[in-house]
Amino acid sequence: MRWGCEKVKMLLFPPLCLHCQEPCEQDLCVGCSATLVLLESEGKTIHAALPQRGAASTLLAALRSGETRLATPLAGFLVTQLEALHWPFPEVLVPLPRQWPEAFSSTLDASFLLAQGVASLLRCPVLRLLKRHLSHPLSPLFSSKCPPLLAERRILVVADQFDEAVLKSAQRALEEVGAHSVRVLAFVKAGEG
Ligand SMILES: [Zn+2]
Repeated sequence: MRWGCEKVKMLLFPPLCLHCQEPCEQDLCVGCSATLVLLESEGKTIHAALPQRGAASTLLAALRSGETRLATPLAGFLVTQLEALHWPFPEVLVPLPRQWPEAFSSTLDASFLLAQGVASLLRCPVLRLLKRHLSHPLSPLFSSKCPPLLAERRILVVADQFDEAVLKSAQRALEEVGAHSVRVLAFVKAGEG
């Protein structure tokens, strides 16, 4: 058997599961991977992919702290959930903007990274169409009405965490300016599963 450098390194420094820190061959061990189960469909236009408990929150924290290689694999759960929900694939992705305190933190913008991950899988653009204000929670980037090209598009707002009030506000903000179809999908939802 030939031992390459990679094999030696694997023996000296075996990769650890990001969640439970046990040695494993990939980012998650089999047991922790098993906790990643899609949430059931509720027939709404605002949904989440995974319960926040278990490995999902660890993976999201790792993405925020700089593990950007996780963006596309994690976005895979969003795309899988889109299919499970029988939602039409979006034509435009809109990341949920961060809240003011978070925007100044050293962590990365997970909603934007996840939107980029979905974009790479579905080949559609990411447009930052929403902005936050201190006085008003969320509003569209444009002031009067939706640009005609966007009004006809299927828009998906991508968020890292499920917060129904915030996500409804994002959906409403785009609908109020004439966006035709706005669905919202978060990566994780607390208190589920
Ligand atoms: Zn594990």
